[in-house]
Amino acid sequence: MASANGTSTIELERAGSNPGALIDPFGRAITYLRVSVTDRCDFRCVYCMSEHMAFLPKADLLSLEELDRLCSAFIARGVTKLRLTGGEPLVRRGIMTLVRSLSRHLASGALKELALTTNGSQLQRYAAELKAAGVERVNVSLDTLDADKFRAITRWGELKNVLAGIDAAQAAGLRVKINAVALKGVNEDEISGLLEWAHGRGMDLTVIEVMPLGDIDESRLDQYLPLSIIRARLAEQYTLEDIDYRTGGPARYVRVKETGGRLGFITPLTHNFCESCNRVRVTCTGTLYMCLGQNDAADLRTPLRASESDDRLHATIDEAIMRKPKGHDFVIDRRHQNSTLPRHMSTTGG
Ligand code: SAM
Repeated sequence: MASANGTSTIELERAGSNPGALIDPFGRAITYLRVSVTDRCDFRCVYCMSEHMAFLPKADLLSLEELDRLCSAFIARGVTKLRLTGGEPLVRRGIMTLVRSLSRHLASGALKELALTTNGSQLQRYAAELKAAGVERVNVSLDTLDADKFRAITRWGELKNVLAGIDAAQAAGLRVKINAVALKGVNEDEISGLLEWAHGRGMDLTVIEVMPLGDIDESRLDQYLPLSIIRARLAEQYTLEDIDYRTGGPARYVRVKETGGRLGFITPLTHNFCESCNRVRVTCTGTLYMCLGQNDAADLRTPLRASESDDRLHATIDEAIMRKPKGHDFVIDRRHQNSTLPRHMSTTGG
């Protein structure tokens, strides 16, 4: 059951029973942490990065031990869902050491879910290990099933590796959800094909509006396609039934009667979903962003490194959560073409 702000009653009860629970000024319990474990990626998706990205010096990154300590501090404060992302999380050296270490919180029951968002390129190698470490679900980003288009969108990616990765994930028993960014004139004619393919394999599909995050080599206006248009087109072909299903993330789901599968919409531009926001994000350098669409941030690396005790870290987290804004205000239109946030999605973690 969901409360007015979308946080489940169980989550709020659990948060209420934890004296150190993270509750923001709008009464939203922070129960979901997304951690970007690296800013590096083996793809260069045109809407995400420019082709020649400058990546952070390795020395700036939190070590795997520091990432573990940071995640554990949030879990102690009531975070029950943790998603590792990036960059590409599976290109971070030693990533499985971190995953295996974090899985102790699944075993203790403090963490309900440890999930991953990946481009799928390395899944063939890691799927079985992820499952063995307690990961149950992976989100795989895939915008097209056309190999040439895939190469054009990702610049460096090979579709066949991602499809093999998805096969491996399903064979290992992981639940796979496909995330596709809707791109004007690129994959807008393919959404029903993606939907039939995903649902045919027992996978949910979520479509996402492109967000104005970071400078890229082309105009956002050329890429942006409101999902209201996609939804209206799909509704001509399928019966879309609104359902209550929620994963703790921002997607709103419908059931597609003809396929029996679920279709999610993430619409940060056409429908702001902030009232139910239960999330914060930490970058691979330990910067805490209280909102994907705002610049305010808190440095957690300094208190983390200042002392072996977590006291200063917790005090910094508390202070930051009190500054969590009510919401974001992404805009993509002709007047706001230059009002992009300076960070790329690969920095904050998508
Ligand atoms: N490398 C992993 C992956 O591909 O899923 C995780 C990081 S990636 C930044 C996470 C998600 O953000 C992907 O689904 C990607 O398509 C999406 N993304 C990146 N830039 C975006 C943008 N500007 N607007 C909307 N989605 C974006």
